[in-house]
Amino acid sequence: MPELVHKLADLTALRDRDALDMALVRAINELLLPQTVAICRVVGEDGQEHWLTCAQLHAHQLTPTFDSAWSKLDWLPRLSEHPLRVQALAARQLVQTRNAHACLTIFPLTGNPGSIGVLEIGSDEPLSKETCRLVSGVLRLYLNFQSVLDYGERDALTDLLNRKTFDGAFLKATLEQSLAVKTAQDDRRDITCTGSYWLAMIDIDHFKRVNDNFGHLIGDEVLLLLAQLMRASFRFHDQLYRFGGEEFVVLMRCNSELEAASALERLRVATETHLFPQVGCITISTGFSEIKPGDTPSGAFERADKAVYYAKAHGRNQVCSYAALVASGELIDHTANMGDMELF
Ligand code: GH3
Ligand code: MG
Ligand code: MG
Repeated sequence: MPELVHKLADLTALRDRDALDMALVRAINELLLPQTVAICRVVGEDGQEHWLTCAQLHAHQLTPTFDSAWSKLDWLPRLSEHPLRVQALAARQLVQTRNAHACLTIFPLTGNPGSIGVLEIGSDEPLSKETCRLVSGVLRLYLNFQSVLDYGERDALTDLLNRKTFDGAFLKATLEQSLAVKTAQDDRRDITCTGSYWLAMIDIDHFKRVNDNFGHLIGDEVLLLLAQLMRASFRFHDQLYRFGGEEFVVLMRCNSELEAASALERLRVATETHLFPQVGCITISTGFSEIKPGDTPSGAFERADKAVYYAKAHGRNQVCSYAALVASGELIDHTANMGDMELF
């Protein structure tokens, strides 16, 4: 028991979701010594959901393995390929079964979209009632702790990520990107999205008029609905933020500028064609820029912001690429030669 208390204390010292998942499978592994333990989450749009393995440990392994957060959706198992997991989620209670290799115990994990999933334990013998109660207790603590983290990291109105977590995500993304380049021969490259990271800023056009004409509450509803359109327009691994007010940010990984532009254009069209209750139609202006090696969040923001500013000054309701504007001479890139400048 004291060992369990220490493990739980270790868990709640973490702030990083991935590290938390790793720590949970490690803790369960050390406590129960099962054949396998895994956390698998449901990702993808309604009707197109797949299973992403966030942390998995086999008895002989020291370090958990996981699917890359940038996995291509089609390469991940479909929801229906694991009916018992689906059953555990639907019933909101654990499911136990025995297959040819092991006894499986599947515990449902509930939470925000993107964090719904299961904890799956494979063991030689069925887990006893007492062990199941113990694991359920640990999971309750884990889920409660995740809610506390969500409370601090998510925007209360839209449930998108808030500004606080952006710098960490930016750093993590750029680090992952440089690691991906180093392991270019890795087999996993085939099943993951390669390419680079892009930062997009989205600003609602004439939003002040919405507030002035219909009031703040209706304005808030527009923000909420736009967040839903964003969730439907981007892929499961793109990170969506509300930076306050009517400004939204997307940190996405795409194979090309065209791919980034198409995803953003999809949102622009979805917004333009959506009928917002009472308000009718609204439009958005978007600016985006590729994140470069050694970039800082403020540098990337400055470029995306300039592209938004350009969109606003040239008729709004459009997606503008900073690089394309520089290439066509519409904008001047003051940062291009910074590396060559002699400061002293
Ligand atoms: P532009 O097309 O140039 O972006 O015009 P705009 O009116 O959208 O631009 P501006 O940035 O001047 O105005 C943003 C408005 O967003 C001001 C404020 O009334 C409104 N706003 C900011 N935060 C919130 C919020 O949380 N809820 C609501 N309802 N309105 C907000
Ligand atoms: Mg604004
Ligand atoms: Mg605006």
